[in-house]
Amino acid sequence: MASQDLPAAFGFLASARPSGGRIPRAAFATRGTHTGVDLRLRSQTLGATLVHAPGLPPDSAQAHDADTAVLLAGEIYNRDDLYSVLGPNTERSSDAQLVLDLLRRYGRHAFRLVNGRFAAVVGTGRQVLLATDHAGSIPLYVCASPGEVTAATEAKTLAGHGGPRGFPFADARRVRGLPGVYQVPAGAVMDIGLDAGTAETHRTWAPPLARRIMDEDDAVAAVRTALDRAVGARITPGGTPLVVLSGGIDSSGVAALAHRAAGAIDSLSMGTEVSDEFAQAKAVADHLGTRHREITVPTADLLGQLPYAVWAAESEDPDIIEYLLPLVALYRALDGPPRRVLTGYGADIPLAGMHREDRLPDLDTAVAYDMATYDGLNEMSPVLSAVSGHWSTHPYWDRDVLDLLVSLEAGLKRRYGRDKWVLRAAMAELLPEQTVKRPKLGVHEGSGTTSSFSLLLLEEGVAEQSVGAAKQQVVRELFDRTVVAGEDPGEVSTAEVVRSVADRLERGAA
Ligand code: ATP
Ligand code: MG
Ligand code: MG
Ligand code: MG
Repeated sequence: MASQDLPAAFGFLASARPSGGRIPRAAFATRGTHTGVDLRLRSQTLGATLVHAPGLPPDSAQAHDADTAVLLAGEIYNRDDLYSVLGPNTERSSDAQLVLDLLRRYGRHAFRLVNGRFAAVVGTGRQVLLATDHAGSIPLYVCASPGEVTAATEAKTLAGHGGPRGFPFADARRVRGLPGVYQVPAGAVMDIGLDAGTAETHRTWAPPLARRIMDEDDAVAAVRTALDRAVGARITPGGTPLVVLSGGIDSSGVAALAHRAAGAIDSLSMGTEVSDEFAQAKAVADHLGTRHREITVPTADLLGQLPYAVWAAESEDPDIIEYLLPLVALYRALDGPPRRVLTGYGADIPLAGMHREDRLPDLDTAVAYDMATYDGLNEMSPVLSAVSGHWSTHPYWDRDVLDLLVSLEAGLKRRYGRDKWVLRAAMAELLPEQTVKRPKLGVHEGSGTTSSFSLLLLEEGVAEQSVGAAKQQVVRELFDRTVVAGEDPGEVSTAEVVRSVADRLERGAA
């Protein structure tokens, strides 16, 4: 059964109150079955809607005793390590129960131990803990007013819950257009008092600032080992994972390791009528012997799905939306039962894959900048694939892989005139030579997304030098409509929004 292969819950909307709970309901971009939970604890009640795969009861997304309840969306990747500190008699059950057991031992510091892709809400005593994984890879939002804390994995579900009564949170980012709604920082636990509504934010992870000097061979072996573990932890026994494959080194490396770990994988490539990487992806699929499929999305359809990309990502960054749009279009074209999807997303951030010159100072500047600013972009959000019911996970942003890749000295990342040298060397035996040597090509480039979006604006009369600003405005307007105002993305026309932005720019320029 495919659904055994998936986490117990993809997302939630939860409400904690001192007493007299309720089950809050809302429309999610995440596709799935909604199940209500109503947990009455000694000092509070926690009501929630869990969104989960159809046919898979979400019981294991929750765990509680008389005082404390845990709701967890997503999954944990270092279970063995975590169980090892709980003692030999600890029974293995759900990830939510594991977190509850860790909370008993470590209090809120439990989250410092977890390597996972998760968002959690914990009701305990009169406190509410809201926790994100190190990367904030499942976005988590909160609004609080006297006597109620509401939290959700999608900001749009909190529209109308905040307002002027919402408490301000100094340590969290506001969500524009949704008063009183804040995004819980990546790698953090917010500890909120249910009565006072005041929060303390505790960081559970920070990107390494120091760099490690390693022997070539040691660095290559360390990368290979860490990535192999991360891929293995993301595969469930008996399941056949799907790898979204471009034929670039990042996804090809994941495909090779997943194929070895699972015995077999499916692979999937997207392209448009103007541009694709089909030949490069097929070379990898043939080499590994994957069951491979290609999907061509016409450019007009691709751009027409911009409202879906913004609705899913809840991001206002136009560059990020350009990276994510082809993937959202691919996931939406992937019909059939929910799949577990592995991607090669995010390798370029710690390895500065976009850095196309040999000098090193700028390379580490790029790594440090990107690692300091990823929070809130929602690039890794599972909602991107969950809009069509699929669960996606990103091995390069596994906590251990990321800690290692970020910390390698720049000369291991750019070496012998190659970008991402250490990764290429780590994958050399597993892939065709042409794949290992292939220069980086961004998904927004390989699919023609960036140039097609630009062309659409130019055709509406936007001046060349205003294209960047126009893209920002288009994405903002799509955010206002699909996230803030809750419009159905299927009812929002990219062409109309582009036209209105072009008109506005023209009037502004006149
Ligand atoms: P490189 O960064 O060296 O080009 P890559 O293509 O694997 O390697 P990105 O271009 O950064 O990585 O793209 C991010 C991820 O998105 C990929 O690793 C892959 O999982 C997915 N992806 C990108 N392009 C496609 C595509 N055309 N079809 C399917 N999946 C893709
Ligand atoms: Mg990448
Ligand atoms: Mg890449
Ligand atoms: Mg690529």
